[in-house]
Amino acid sequence: MRTTVLRGGDLVDGTGAPPRPMVDIVIEGDTVRSILPSAPRPAYGTVDEILDARGLLVIPGLINNHTHGTAYGPLFPSAHEGLPSERVRANLDRHLLEGTTTVLCVDGFVTAEAAARTADDHPMRVRLASCNTPACLRAASIADGAGLTEEIRAFTAHRALAAGAVALGEIGAGHTLGGGGASYLYIPAEVSRRTGKTITPRQADAIKIAVLGRHISSSSFDRDAVEEALVGAGLAEHLSVTQARALVSEIVLPAFDIALDGLTEAADYARRADVPVLVHNAAASMSQVAAIAATDVRLIAGHSNHASFDPREALRHAERLKELGATVDVSTFDTFGARRLTTGPELLYAMLRDGLIDTISTDYAGGHHDPILLAVERATEAGVVRLPEAIAMATANVADAVPGLAPRRGRVTPGAVADIVVTDPARLSQVDTVLIGGAIVVSGGRRVTAVERAEVVEAYDDR
Ligand SMILES: [Zn+2]
Repeated sequence: MRTTVLRGGDLVDGTGAPPRPMVDIVIEGDTVRSILPSAPRPAYGTVDEILDARGLLVIPGLINNHTHGTAYGPLFPSAHEGLPSERVRANLDRHLLEGTTTVLCVDGFVTAEAAARTADDHPMRVRLASCNTPACLRAASIADGAGLTEEIRAFTAHRALAAGAVALGEIGAGHTLGGGGASYLYIPAEVSRRTGKTITPRQADAIKIAVLGRHISSSSFDRDAVEEALVGAGLAEHLSVTQARALVSEIVLPAFDIALDGLTEAADYARRADVPVLVHNAAASMSQVAAIAATDVRLIAGHSNHASFDPREALRHAERLKELGATVDVSTFDTFGARRLTTGPELLYAMLRDGLIDTISTDYAGGHHDPILLAVERATEAGVVRLPEAIAMATANVADAVPGLAPRRGRVTPGAVADIVVTDPARLSQVDTVLIGGAIVVSGGRRVTAVERAEVVEAYDDR
């Protein structure tokens, strides 16, 4: 069995325990065997490789419970046409280079066969969630459904769970519940089709909220606000208020109530199958999510910092969910970078400061998500959370919240699988090395193939 020593790094082990400076991690095969105070190289006699981590931070590989576009097959719980396979692999590369070693793909209509093909093409551990329950399938068919085939329709949640799916999710979504997916995808596309004009996600969001409000209800229609939003989007000459109201309503409303019913239905399925249900938690779905939390299902309240919440509403809601025993998840979205829909980290920070967060994921943000480690870095700098707790939110807490997702992973402790990330302590998102099951898959901040791996080991040996 191959023995590797990861030498001299400062370890934050994922359990929430304080950092352990200067340790050597002995890896045998795919397993962490022991963790010792750092010793000079000769102490280990003949080992197959020694990776020098002195001055660097060592953490468990991240486990991301909310990703889209990370497996071949329909995109999103609206069953949008799947991304080209090279784009899926590029998404997986990006997650891997950000220090993630396991992703839960919550697109929801990916088949086991498509997941197996994805796994053949990429070292990332990709696990599936299913949203193929009757109501969610109907909502997807109405909202989009372009990626559905007979085979996919027949790959029901029951079959998916039997084939290894680890959760139900994402139940409801921005694409079926009038959330981000409507704003960055469906509304801009329809506006462009009808007027030839391109609008930004934020402009589409403003029109949507003016027509239907944050909680999505036709009674929230605000004529003046629609007029203002149309002017803001440069559409005043191209769409009347009535036309805009019809356009948004026709995109959002037909699937909306069915998708809401899907939340309760999927929670029932999940309870019976004894798996977690991961739901789209946003202003539009919060009442249903709270009702599900009051039952005895294992609930992951996805992206509880969703931009559709009023900040105080989000905090109160998260508090309530936590009291009811739900896992409160937040997503990085595009909070620090693109900011196409989110406005900044204030809500995320407030939730961290109040101790309301269990897990951190990315979600998709129209393909513009920020790295989890960037959020951890900024939040620790801002003093709203300590590093060990923040790392636990992206590792051990996720493994515990979704038991089938990453067994024996999420912690760097003896006996755990050696999914390990080595990064710059001053710039956490500058990931240097990633190991999955003890094998190097990223080195020097770059994906390495099996062939290149031998050279990497040699380079380490020369240091
Ligand atoms: Zn969502």
